[in-house]
Amino acid sequence: MSGTAERALGVHRVLEPRGALPQAADRLDADPAIGPDEVRVAVQRLNLDAASFRQLSESCAGDGAAVRAAVLGIVAARGKMQNPVTGSGGMLIGVVDAVGPDSPLGLTVGQRVATLVSLTLTPLRLTDGLAGWDGLGEQVPAAGTAILFARSIAAVLPDDLPDAVSLALLDVCGAPAATARVVARDRARSVTVLGAAGKSGCLSLAAARDAGATELTGLVRDGAEAAALTRAGLADRVVVADATDPLAVAAAVGTPADVTVVCVDVPGAEHGAVLATAEGGTVVFFSMATSFSAAALGAEGMAADVTMLIGNGYTPGHAALALELYRRTAGVRALVDPRVRR
Ligand code: NAP
Repeated sequence: MSGTAERALGVHRVLEPRGALPQAADRLDADPAIGPDEVRVAVQRLNLDAASFRQLSESCAGDGAAVRAAVLGIVAARGKMQNPVTGSGGMLIGVVDAVGPDSPLGLTVGQRVATLVSLTLTPLRLTDGLAGWDGLGEQVPAAGTAILFARSIAAVLPDDLPDAVSLALLDVCGAPAATARVVARDRARSVTVLGAAGKSGCLSLAAARDAGATELTGLVRDGAEAAALTRAGLADRVVVADATDPLAVAAAVGTPADVTVVCVDVPGAEHGAVLATAEGGTVVFFSMATSFSAAALGAEGMAADVTMLIGNGYTPGHAALALELYRRTAGVRALVDPRVRR
């Protein structure tokens, strides 16, 4: 690979271990001085990935100040926001404040953007001690700088939506795009979504409907979520079960679906998802709390002939699709809005 191609991936920003790509690196160089092919963003807000925020919050027993200190510690130590336990990050919004002359991203100074590459590979320096954040929600008002490489992607923020909503939608926009693609490819009729009342879950239901699925099941954690999802009208059937209890999932779902999409933010949903999926069907593991070994060995142990996909955060057109689903689907707005702290 040429030096230019390596730079485009951000390899020159990796401090440890040398030779790793930024996502896998332990530590990045977050120096705000940009190279000719880079873009610097003045950070305004981070969106921590749901699995990461839950893990941090639980490990700090819900103490917001401790969560804030943990995030500051991670960013200071690693030069990026990558939770060492979940391995996941999130994304950010901010204003473009410097563009290198060779950057191919087409961004201009002053544009308000959301990064569509993960925080796990984005060099990040925080300058405000996260003073404006109480540590109690996934969205983190922040000041500092982030660096985009030549192969990073960013979306210009839409003017018609609150930033906090755009940020939340763009963080999970890979889920509806992956769901739409699989439903269309498999000509799937039945789709089950685990964690269906969450942000990625409700978007995935809406995307599945658009893509032609006709039997949509939403699995949720409890009666309150069931009521909310029923009111939203996105699923044909709403069932309640703990997604981490495989037998309970199988019993609640009943007839297995052509496609199952895992959108919970907790570990342990792999086996229930496999049981919920018909022979020859497909499971999309969007959750960052998914274990590859639990999924692969679990499916083998059940002699389940299912295709298992890792929900790639990137699919062409994913950002526009998620924003569009939110704009035109009242049920999606009804479920997403209460989860977004503005
Ligand atoms: P979210 O809005 O918090 O939704 C998660 C939903 O799962 C919530 O409704 C939650 O219920 C429910 N849930 C949690 N534990 C459950 C259980 N045991 N049984 C049934 N339901 C349960 O999260 P999100 O933002 O959509 O993110 C979902 C997942 O996507 C996370 O794991 C996140 O890390 C991942 N993600 C992946 C990518 C990617 O590129 N693949 C990108 C971004 C995010 P409560 O609210 O009641 O807890």
